[in-house]
Amino acid sequence: MLMDTDAAEAAPDLEPRVERIGRELVAQMPTARKTPRAAVERRVMGAMVADPELRAAVFRFVDVRPACADPGEVARHLGELLAEADDSPLARRGAALADGALTRRATAKAAALGVGQMAQRFIIGSDARAALPAVEKLWREGVATTIDLLGEATVTEDEAESYAARCEETLLTLHEASKGWPSRELLERDGLGPLPRVNLSVKVSALTPLLRPTAPERGIAGAEPRLRRLLRVARDTGAHLHVDMESFDTREAITELTLKLLSEEEFASGPSAGIVLQAYLTESPQHLDRLLDWARTHRRAYPFTIRLVKGAYWDHETVEAIQHGWEPPVFQDRRACDRNFEELTRRLIDAQPGGVVRAAIASHNLRSIAHAAAYADARGLDVELQVLRGLGDETQAALLAAGRRVRAYCPIGDLVAGMAYLVRRLLENTSNDSFLRAQAEGVDLTTLLEKP
Ligand SMILES: Cc1cc2nc3c(=O)[nH]c(=O)nc-3n(C[C@H](O)[C@H](O)[C@H](O)COP(=O)(O)OP(=O)(O)OC[C@H]3O[C@@H](n4cnc5c(N)ncnc54)[C@H](O)[C@@H]3O)c2cc1C
Repeated sequence: MLMDTDAAEAAPDLEPRVERIGRELVAQMPTARKTPRAAVERRVMGAMVADPELRAAVFRFVDVRPACADPGEVARHLGELLAEADDSPLARRGAALADGALTRRATAKAAALGVGQMAQRFIIGSDARAALPAVEKLWREGVATTIDLLGEATVTEDEAESYAARCEETLLTLHEASKGWPSRELLERDGLGPLPRVNLSVKVSALTPLLRPTAPERGIAGAEPRLRRLLRVARDTGAHLHVDMESFDTREAITELTLKLLSEEEFASGPSAGIVLQAYLTESPQHLDRLLDWARTHRRAYPFTIRLVKGAYWDHETVEAIQHGWEPPVFQDRRACDRNFEELTRRLIDAQPGGVVRAAIASHNLRSIAHAAAYADARGLDVELQVLRGLGDETQAALLAAGRRVRAYCPIGDLVAGMAYLVRRLLENTSNDSFLRAQAEGVDLTTLLEKP
């Protein structure tokens, strides 16, 4: 395995390449969308960036949202919370929505329309069947997808069963539909072998109500039969199944369960499967050692896909550690996190020859993406790049135009789930340390592409 310094030596012209690819990608990005909906979205993002009180109100909304029974209640809570925030235009609109002068039904309709319209750009459909036209359109354009079924953390066995059943149905529905899709060579094969057309991302916390840090073995036992069922359906339909990573206190259980099942003889011939590595965890390099060791000693018919992300629970991990007086498991310095992301990117790309591991680099940060593409090019190796639908659309278009393989992570869910998802993504991307925020604020390209 190449150490970081060796890896940098292996690609001595890396920085000029990163700069060139970064600039080329920006040049390929579609110019700012000018539709009325895009204008509303920009205003909402702008208001959230400029207004910490508004962001705090939206945070509280995420907390109360699971208690809301329907879109009407969601809208009422959102309106009330926004009304508590300061006098920003969005807050005034929220206050109007919560105003008793409007009937509850009218309030619900107005809010559901506004937030729902925005949510539609982030979710791809209410269920698998409804999502099919959008998934097929992306495929025809040359963009692969991975589907994620939205839902709150599962608290009962019935909910876990229903989530697993929806996953199963999604695999079967997409499998049938994908037979009619035209061939797209870049999306169906890489240097390591065939790539399934259908790709589903699943959350272990949705497969069992028992995933608790205090008793990981109960969570593993609870999720195991349902994950096994999904692996069988994925194998029988030739799909890829990807296990998402969640908060740090569940990482061990999720990893153990995934590796345990994929080690079994019945899954040696398939399906194609993978897991997520979170670069914001300070001990992620050691975790990657473990994943690579496992992949090398458990050769399967398909390479083990490792999706590298920074991690979506930074605030949660930091606050939780402070509350308990622990050392946070996540980097506290943004640049250190980005540096680690780049080191892990290089290690993952270099681990591919031999066919036991496939690298997928997921980010909306132009520097992180350009670095991954530049390093893969310099080493003459392949790499898949991944973005979230709605947030990464412009990057996706630029990667497509540049002839690179890109996969969009596409959530499916109803309006209520979609609104909660939208709010989370808005909060993440309007935080001080977000690349998308820096980009939206007009930070110059040379700075955005600087080595972390
Ligand atoms: C296709 C796809 C799949 C994903 N799947 C998962 C998943 O399974 N599990 C998961 O956890 N996340 C997942 N994510 C989300 C991902 O972890 C990031 O939250 C998101 O992509 C933002 O990171 P970025 O590189 O795009 O943006 P950037 O703006 O470059 O990075 C933001 C990230 O930096 C980190 N950060 C923020 N502040 C600090 C700080 N002060 N010090 C150190 N680090 C900081 C956080 O991780 C934050 O999310 C996925 C993202 C994509 C695109």
